[in-house]
Amino acid sequence: MQYKRVLLKLSGEALMGNRQYGIDPERLAEYAEEVKSVTNQGVEVAIVIGGGNIFRGVAGASRGMDRVQGDHMGMLATVINGLALQSALEDAGIQTRLQSAIKINEVAEPFIRRKAIRHLEKGRVVIFGGGTGNPYFTTDSAAVLRAIEIKADVILKGTRVDGIYTADPEKDKKATKFDFISFDDVIRKGLKVMDTTAFTLSQENELPIIVFDMNTPGNLMKVVTGENVGTKVNL
Ligand code: UDP
Repeated sequence: MQYKRVLLKLSGEALMGNRQYGIDPERLAEYAEEVKSVTNQGVEVAIVIGGGNIFRGVAGASRGMDRVQGDHMGMLATVINGLALQSALEDAGIQTRLQSAIKINEVAEPFIRRKAIRHLEKGRVVIFGGGTGNPYFTTDSAAVLRAIEIKADVILKGTRVDGIYTADPEKDKKATKFDFISFDDVIRKGLKVMDTTAFTLSQENELPIIVFDMNTPGNLMKVVTGENVGTKVNL
């Protein structure tokens, strides 16, 4: 295994599958199998889950809602997704813990870094819900923050596309994929990997990011074994 401890970031939208909204149980079950394949090999997996399939604070603000109020709704949405993911992982026979950045003690453990690390050492998958616990941040920032805190080897950003391209491959047919790219080149070329706050936090802490297609079965395993899947952003 190339990586011993990984932080997997899944967007809320990824959980929709082919739906327009909400959660697709089949997609969740597929993700659970992917995660199981790597935990079975002894890889420690922590997951940060987004909430965009349910609510985004910015979307609320664009319709006149108070941004902070909307962000609180977004953070709660990530807890809902975390609970759904936890169920799917447990159905697949994986031990899990859900830790939330906002206190919601009847539903999830509070985020406690040392406890999270202990869970990982015991082979449990730790899901981090509630983002960073602060408005005006994203779950990408939460993913980088938690990855640094738990000393993950890498952030694995599971998406619908199979890496970082010279242009948006869904719009530009001539776009080509990078296998490797530096943090500086991502900024210089104006490419979109994560929001700027998340991206610079990763760069400053020398934490590599791998962007890969999470919807192709077997890909997560390939990534953790060091196969050239997706795009790796490194120093
Ligand atoms: N959010 C927040 N603080 C955080 C993380 C998330 O306020 O630290 C809110 C924010 O409103 C965001 C929503 O939760 O729009 C859902 O998170 P995100 O948009 O990152 O989800 P994804 O795009 O990954 O599905």
